[in-house]
Amino acid sequence: SEKLNANVRNLKKSATLVINELSNNLITKGINVFKLGFGQSPFPVPKIVVDALKENAHQKDYLQVKGLPVLRKEIAFFYKRNYELSVSDADVIIGPGSKELIFNFQLVYNFKELLLPKPSWVSYEPQALLNNRKNAWLGTKEENDWKLTPTDIINYCEHSQNKIRVLILNYPSNPLGISYSSTELKALAVVLKQYNILVISDEIYGETHFKGYHQTLAKYYPEGTIISTGLSKWAGAGGWRLGVFIFPKKLRFILDAMAVVASETFTSTSAPIQYAAVEAYKQNESINTYLADTRKILKAVGMYTYNYLKDIGVSLPKPEGGFYVFPNFEKWKDTLAKRNILTNTQFCNTLLNETGVALLPGVAFGFPEEVFTARLSYVDFDGTLVLKILNKQPNATVDN
Ligand code: PLP
Repeated sequence: SEKLNANVRNLKKSATLVINELSNNLITKGINVFKLGFGQSPFPVPKIVVDALKENAHQKDYLQVKGLPVLRKEIAFFYKRNYELSVSDADVIIGPGSKELIFNFQLVYNFKELLLPKPSWVSYEPQALLNNRKNAWLGTKEENDWKLTPTDIINYCEHSQNKIRVLILNYPSNPLGISYSSTELKALAVVLKQYNILVISDEIYGETHFKGYHQTLAKYYPEGTIISTGLSKWAGAGGWRLGVFIFPKKLRFILDAMAVVASETFTSTSAPIQYAAVEAYKQNESINTYLADTRKILKAVGMYTYNYLKDIGVSLPKPEGGFYVFPNFEKWKDTLAKRNILTNTQFCNTLLNETGVALLPGVAFGFPEEVFTARLSYVDFDGTLVLKILNKQPNATVDN
């Protein structure tokens, strides 16, 4: 409608919503739907954190705009301890979900172009549009598992001069499942420095890395990396809405500007949730056990899914963390064309209607419609599937 802000009017209905609606239609008709389209942690919030929430239900005051001081301190310790970064509490800001913080960043920072590797998570592009900004898709190659390489960055930057650029790099990746090794991050850091590209390093799946050794770009490009993270994925607390940004000292002015926006909009994240989150970030044996257990289960289900798809001839990157794989069904392109299935959206709709399997089409992640990619989320499992897989692979440890 003309009565809506043009930035809002131009947004399309998200692919997630469309698949959700189609799935729900089928479910109301009594059809069994396998919802492999969603990205929610299958695990409960660690007990110690839930207990802390109960104990803090009485916390009723508005909290500091940048976040509860003791929580910011624990997060700084967490990054010192686990990633050897020199982070202080003053570098940390808390928000109601990292999604909100990524949006807030795009609102306050004056830049021309948002660079997104293809494929990238579904919400970055709409957020750029909401801020009346364009995004540029950086080409990636299937032979590199669709990972971003220094060459992909150079190719783009050589053709677009004099821009103030921001890149969002997400790893372990939604939708790819891949992550980056320290060698790969070092190589990317050289080029990112060279072109003076500011990076939002979306590490929301960092602690789910199957082997437990997630690496951060901030180690190799400290001056230009803002870490985006939170409780949603590794602590199973998506609905709690707690996100975190960690800034390099030189970029503190952006944190301060985001705090101004926060003070005029959401004020602060829910007080009981912030008190409870302190327990999640504190050094604690029960959190370490929780992480080891959840990684083991994610790895077992992720590798089972990967091997199953590979065995039937689907090509896909090998998952290293997170909740997803990103299969490519190009091999069946001609067969699909004969049935007049010409786009990844049509492919996912047909798959859902005929088999009850709900995937998210590649187009939602920046792929052209004519490439038959889709995201499969393997976390919609029940305990019996997990036990079956773990029993089949009794030696499935976190480090093999
Ligand atoms: N980034 C990625 C890649 C995600 O998959 C998600 C959640 O789906 C988010 C960010 C947002 O997480 P939250 O707002 O819950 O912190």
